[in-house]
Amino acid sequence: QKVAGQVDAQDVPKLEVHFPLCMKNLATVLKKEHHLKHDGRMQFGLFLKGIGLPLEQALEYWRMAFIKMNDEEFKKGYAYNIRHNYGQEGNRKNYSPYGCEKIIHSSTGGAGQHHGCPFKNFSPDRIRAEVRAQNATVTNSEVEELVGLVTAKHYNIACSKYFELTHPPSAPQSGPTALTEPITHPNQFFELSYKFSHT
Ligand code: SF4
Repeated sequence: QKVAGQVDAQDVPKLEVHFPLCMKNLATVLKKEHHLKHDGRMQFGLFLKGIGLPLEQALEYWRMAFIKMNDEEFKKGYAYNIRHNYGQEGNRKNYSPYGCEKIIHSSTGGAGQHHGCPFKNFSPDRIRAEVRAQNATVTNSEVEELVGLVTAKHYNIACSKYFELTHPPSAPQSGPTALTEPITHPNQFFELSYKFSHT
């Protein structure tokens, strides 16, 4: 079943279960703070475009998310950028969602900045907590294997391991879910996760 092109603003929260950690983190911050800074909006907004959220629905999604803002403020400060990401303003370039390489190497660390790759930016304890929150039956050695990949700076392999640990097979005796390709793009993570639970 194909997702792309079929996603409405109100579908996004239901699909969060398939988001990679970088996008889950931005979605969580957005819900909590009703705002994201520019880099976070670009990273998350283009990802949402990639999962099939069309422009009109993207405008609705962000308008609902920025609940504390009035219409005028939203229109002036944000709607232009959203349309720009969809090639409807300025140079009319049709922007693609960011891949892991770009996200991992993006500069982060400023106050209130939440974009970037969590496997690079989160502490080992936070990674431990995130994976346990997704799969309560994960073993200590599995968690430590993931943390080892993080501390060795193998962020893509860590993300692939995270996918495997958070998508356990329905029959445990069949062994862990093994990816045939490493995660190199957040939208690839999403597609694989969506397929995993719909096949
Ligand atoms: Fe996101 Fe890629 Fe980092 Fe995974 S490795 S969390 S998909 S940026």
